[in-house]
Amino acid sequence: MQNYQKILNHAEAQCKENGTRFTPKRKQILSELLKSNKALSAYELADLIKEEFRKSIPIMSVYRILEFLEEEKLVHKLNLANKYIACAHIACSHSHALPQFLVCRTCSKVREISIDKRTIDKIQEKVEGAEFQLVNPQLEMHCVCKGCTEKNN
Ligand SMILES: [Zn+2]
Ligand SMILES: [Zn+2]
Ligand SMILES: [Zn+2]
Repeated sequence: MQNYQKILNHAEAQCKENGTRFTPKRKQILSELLKSNKALSAYELADLIKEEFRKSIPIMSVYRILEFLEEEKLVHKLNLANKYIACAHIACSHSHALPQFLVCRTCSKVREISIDKRTIDKIQEKVEGAEFQLVNPQLEMHCVCKGCTEKNN
């Protein structure tokens, strides 16, 4: 992703506004996620940090940092894969809709999209009709991205 320095500045400003601290470690983790177009696990992030900064970071700290970034809505967690992705709207000023994710099953690229609330409400209705409670309406859809489709043709 280009221009991620600008996104980092936005993230920093947002934390300041919320009265939280965007520490160097938090910044490192968010940068790694911004540079990646795939979702990354805490272990993959720890490895990347070690490679880039020649300093290892305990996995528990990575999890705590990810939790913080998630609370600040700077990253999203993909529940099925137990991996994290930087929010695609950090530098946007519009309000954040409920995020949904397209995951390429070939190259693992992830794209954040938003589905309109009416569609989600319909899904919720169906779920309740089946006598289940919708706990988390986040959709993670298995897809094939354009790049991979073109490669296969
Ligand atoms: Zn987002
Ligand atoms: Zn946006
Ligand atoms: Zn792909």
